Amino acid sequence: QFESFIRMFSSRPPCNVGDSVTDVETPALLVCLKKLEQNLNTLKEAMKAYPSVKLRPHAKTHKCAMLARLQIQSGAVGLCCQKLTEAEALVQGGIQDVLLSNQVINKKKLLRLASLARSAHIAVCVDSERNIEDLSEAAKTLDVMLDIVIEVNVGGFRCGVEPGPDVARLAKKVMSLPNIRFKGLHCYNGRNQHIRSLADRQAAVNEVIEKTKLALSALKESEIECNYVTGGGTGTFHLEAASEVFTEVQPGSYVFMDVDYGLNLDGEEKFVSEFQQSLYILSTVQSVAENRAIVDVGLKAVSLDSGVPTVGDQLWLIPGHCDPTVNMHEWIVGMRDGRVESIWPIGGKGPGI
Ligand code: PLP
Ligand code: MN
Repeated sequence: QFESFIRMFSSRPPCNVGDSVTDVETPALLVCLKKLEQNLNTLKEAMKAYPSVKLRPHAKTHKCAMLARLQIQSGAVGLCCQKLTEAEALVQGGIQDVLLSNQVINKKKLLRLASLARSAHIAVCVDSERNIEDLSEAAKTLDVMLDIVIEVNVGGFRCGVEPGPDVARLAKKVMSLPNIRFKGLHCYNGRNQHIRSLADRQAAVNEVIEKTKLALSALKESEIECNYVTGGGTGTFHLEAASEVFTEVQPGSYVFMDVDYGLNLDGEEKFVSEFQQSLYILSTVQSVAENRAIVDVGLKAVSLDSGVPTVGDQLWLIPGHCDPTVNMHEWIVGMRDGRVESIWPIGGKGPGI
């Protein structure tokens, strides 16, 4: 934990609160606070259509406890994260309920995970008996309780056991060991999020729902109670939430959006998303020629239909993919009406799990 604390404060922010946007040193990661707030509110309103479904946004998008706290204030029951450093950043930032929606394998890391359970409710995904044994041992060593969520392969063919007897076998294993508790199922297919047409996306999620039902039947046959099924991202959460099978959804990118999500289509096959682009990379034009402009963000060239910028002009670039872009930066600069209003450390950044 100390390591990520040092990382949090090791770099100098690119600006001060109150600066004008033209004073921000580039490249910098900017968030338009008005659009961010709109996105938080849009999701909160959208979730009213599914009163029995809880919202647990995914923090892999922002890796930032300050933003996670805004999500809690906006109706989230807790956060998901994809790696231990993200979980540490969230718990340090006061988030009380975290699901690490991935496997944590290394025994030292399991102790770090277990130690977070002293300060917050911690759940983690598993897909092997060996990992369940190691989790129980780590939790027992630190005298804490960890919630265990069984990851099911619902068509993504990444982590997860097949939806059948293996699910019940792992649940029984969890119930047989101390300091761990069976919480439910993780049924997520990332590939479905960016299927462009709504009809194709619905068909893909139907497959997820069918596989999830198979996993639930396997538990029922073994008389194992399960009242927690989590999954779904920005592209599909409406469909999981309406399924009457999922009890929780995990959209992440909705706070920022990106070019990739901007290409998803709605029911009328239009590029219309209920969420707004709020994330930008602020860059400075460092060199121009007749037909090109070079910016300080690693892009080789930009073609601009509204004229060539001059050296020193700032450009607001929309990232193709929000989560990996955030991971390259140390700070999220919050802008409102052209001024810096907040500077948030990206405490959960880093390469590894
Ligand atoms: N849940 C899990 C397990 C994920 O891996 C992700 C992202 O890849 C999400 C939710 C959130 O997806 P998105 O950022 O597309 O909303
Ligand atoms: Mn993504």
